[in-house]
Amino acid sequence: MEQPSDTSFKFLSLGGSNEVGRSCHVLQFKGKTVMLDTGIHPAYQGLASLPFYDEFDLSKIDVLLISHFHLDHAASLPYVMKRTNFQGRVFMTHPTKAIYRWLLRDFVRVTSIGTTSSEKDENLYTDEDLADSFDKIETIDYHSTMDVNGIKFTAFHAGHVLGAAMFQIEIAGLRVLFTGDYSREMDRHLNSAEVPPLPSDVLIVESTFGTATHEPRLNREKKLTQLIHSTVGRGGRVLMPVFALGRAQELMLILDEYWSQHADELGSGQVPIYYASNLAKKCMSVYQTYVNMMNDDIRKKFRDSQTNPFIFKHISYLKNLDEFQDFGPSVMLASPGMLQNGLSRDLLEKWCPEDKNMVLITGYSVEGTMAKYIMLEPENIPSINNPDVSIPRRCQIEEISFAAHVDFQENIEFIEKISANNVILVHGESNPMGRLKSALLSNFSSLKGTENEVHVFNPRNCVEVDLEFKGIKVAK
Ligand SMILES: [Zn+2]
Repeated sequence: MEQPSDTSFKFLSLGGSNEVGRSCHVLQFKGKTVMLDTGIHPAYQGLASLPFYDEFDLSKIDVLLISHFHLDHAASLPYVMKRTNFQGRVFMTHPTKAIYRWLLRDFVRVTSIGTTSSEKDENLYTDEDLADSFDKIETIDYHSTMDVNGIKFTAFHAGHVLGAAMFQIEIAGLRVLFTGDYSREMDRHLNSAEVPPLPSDVLIVESTFGTATHEPRLNREKKLTQLIHSTVGRGGRVLMPVFALGRAQELMLILDEYWSQHADELGSGQVPIYYASNLAKKCMSVYQTYVNMMNDDIRKKFRDSQTNPFIFKHISYLKNLDEFQDFGPSVMLASPGMLQNGLSRDLLEKWCPEDKNMVLITGYSVEGTMAKYIMLEPENIPSINNPDVSIPRRCQIEEISFAAHVDFQENIEFIEKISANNVILVHGESNPMGRLKSALLSNFSSLKGTENEVHVFNPRNCVEVDLEFKGIKVAK
């Protein structure tokens, strides 16, 4: 980046622009530098999965804010803190930090698969790096404002997953809102994203679903439970690849309730539901601890029943597949969510040759991952242990999104409420992002040429967006 002039605001993505994955954005104004998120790209491995950190002098960063614990937003943080010249302060919400610890330990374990020394060099960081970084991460409460040398920032509810935050950042009177990943739909356990009380000059917003529309939530829940019920009814197995934490807990709330309502057919172990993850127990304890940060609905249930809603009646935990007796129909929520490797991939390879089984995708599948590929219903898939071996795929493939990203209507309504004159789109593949940009420009076309004209940007990685803010007053 060039040295910014006194009135120029600069935006630069090191990752996560015109793509989904490795989110990392940099803001500069009046000599202050803020970094937003430090993710990895789930379709790549090792150093190739990182944002383009070489393209920016990380020693300039004053504050680094992490929106939520998903790997594409948080997983390269230990690398930034321990393996680069970064010296700034790092903030995230309490639940994000609690989950980050377990999640990244698992991530280190899963990615540290190299056995030769050259493969080991590809490891992004070690357990010690992670532990060291953990102690230096500061936490921020929702609706509280921190001030670090003139950079003020406030965390707001973003929905999406437990602990997810939008950050409104204020530097010398200029206000920028970063949504991270967000959802506006009421969910079983989370508060939906809120509109900050103060206006913003710049909005940096996700564009995952572009101009697509979600079916109403109740329809999707019904479809989900009916598909699963009919599959297990004909003796099939259901594999639901899920990210270990976050949306998986929402799906478990839906399934546990449905199993209770159909206990005569499904309950008492007739059709077991498993949550298979190395992290299962630890993660659930975090959820059980943070019920007070969830929505009124689930808190009321907790108060009324005096039992924790995240202690499930019909779901058992599996740490690995050694303890799994694979007889008869079952439902398996297994991580990782994009079938890249690990438990969910092993089960995919085991179950996909049988046509009565079903793979049910509920998350967002990133380009280049097995989850994205399987939705094309290929005849065969390569085995993870030996890519020369191909496995016939005859099982049913279905997709019902519970990814908790806004759809077009929800996104545009929120963007209108924020009414920033500058909108920067991030976190979307090029095509859906381009379509969203066109739709926004036509939506705001009546303001064209007026002082309220809305400018929409869809920059690529490492391409600067430069905005002039001459009129910013430092009132208040
Ligand atoms: Zn996310």
